[in-house]
Amino acid sequence: MNREILVGLHGVSKQFKGPERQPIVVLENVNINLHDGEIVALLGKSGSGKSTILRMIAGLVPPTSGEVLYRGHAIKGSEAGISMVFQNFALFPWLDVFENVRLGLEAQKLNTSEQRRRTLEAIDMIGLDGFESAYPKELSGGMRQRVGFARAVVAAPDVLLMDEPFSALDVPTAETLRDDLLDLWQEKKIPTRAILMVSHGIEESLLLADRLLILDGTPGRIKDKLPITLEHPRDRNSTHFRSFVDRIYRVITRPEVPLFGMSEQPGLDYRLPGANVQQLLGMLDAVREESDNDRLELSELADELEMELDEVFPLIEALDLLDFAHVEAGRLHLAEQGVAFLDADILERKVIFGHALLERVPLARHIVSAIEAEEDHKVDEEAFLSELNESLTEEEARRVLEVVVAWGRYAEIFAYDYDNGEFSLENPTAEEVSEEE
Ligand code: ADP
Ligand code: MG
Repeated sequence: MNREILVGLHGVSKQFKGPERQPIVVLENVNINLHDGEIVALLGKSGSGKSTILRMIAGLVPPTSGEVLYRGHAIKGSEAGISMVFQNFALFPWLDVFENVRLGLEAQKLNTSEQRRRTLEAIDMIGLDGFESAYPKELSGGMRQRVGFARAVVAAPDVLLMDEPFSALDVPTAETLRDDLLDLWQEKKIPTRAILMVSHGIEESLLLADRLLILDGTPGRIKDKLPITLEHPRDRNSTHFRSFVDRIYRVITRPEVPLFGMSEQPGLDYRLPGANVQQLLGMLDAVREESDNDRLELSELADELEMELDEVFPLIEALDLLDFAHVEAGRLHLAEQGVAFLDADILERKVIFGHALLERVPLARHIVSAIEAEEDHKVDEEAFLSELNESLTEEEARRVLEVVVAWGRYAEIFAYDYDNGEFSLENPTAEEVSEEE
């Protein structure tokens, strides 16, 4: 791409100070170029540093190292050419719509009548005509965010930053506002030349963006850059769209899976997702209850379980890993084993789960054979921790072992003594392992 670069981040890292003044690295070596003419969506789990990236570009916080450039010069504070739309609208309750929008012109030296003309023009364009003297509390969420948009575009920025601008709105309101924004952009009714938006919604990003950046890990790094080759207007039910949803879902949930490859057999050190058996049953049940044919859209699933999308990912990953359910075309489908597990009684469930563990989770299989290999059928957890430690951090090794312990104890494929960290084959007593775990 040889179009002009409006915003550039080069080798940017950001640290904050923690409660004990210890440094917390939030972003590491982030490189982003925002070109003239494109909408880029930055996607990542909550806490991955998305807002921090926007705040650095908006000049609200400086990077710890690296460069943040606007048209080739370092951003030192707010730039006239860059505006931001905030997730929570950030309106002043004591100012009416007109005044809230006019604030977007503060940085520009304009006379009163010019300010007035530009403010009314923005209000009109964003669909707030007639609401000039209303106060934020008199407006619906959708109208409030329109004020947020109007305040951002009134300054005629060439770069528009949007931090989850639709996430506080209900679905139809978000959709209308998104369509209106896309219309303003495509018809060039706003002078904006590039948009960088942050989202944790896969579909929302895919409906708008020309390019997707996926921010991953702690500290956050850009993991993948994916051009979205879908024509507008985009149809979220088209096969092509669904295949993008799938691919992105895989990148987010399975760190080791390349963007265009499919999943391979997991290794011993596979970072098992933190999901408990009751949650997995709840999710299988929701798919069963809420769909006619044992498949459910991921976003509906999240709504149904009253969870955020990034909270449902570990559950979906676990179901996929165990061969209980799989994602295809953005929907979760129950697999044969998942149906059997759901329909079984308590004891049968343990058997089915145990089979799945031994078959699909190398670490579970490894633990059982290590115990069997010992004469006294006892192995200290340190043995497994140090193996995991070869490729995982100490903390992550411990976490992965805890997941397999909970799963293995539920299935009764081994016993584990929480007091001394010892694995054995003895069957734990009934009250130790119950469905409620
Ligand atoms: P996201 O927008 O992806 O959810 P943020 O950029 O808001 O993530 O935050 C990333 C991480 O940085 C979080 O762990 C958050 O707690 C931390 N963080 C953000 N701002 C500050 C701050 N001003 N001081 C200390 N920590 C912060
Ligand atoms: Mg954020």
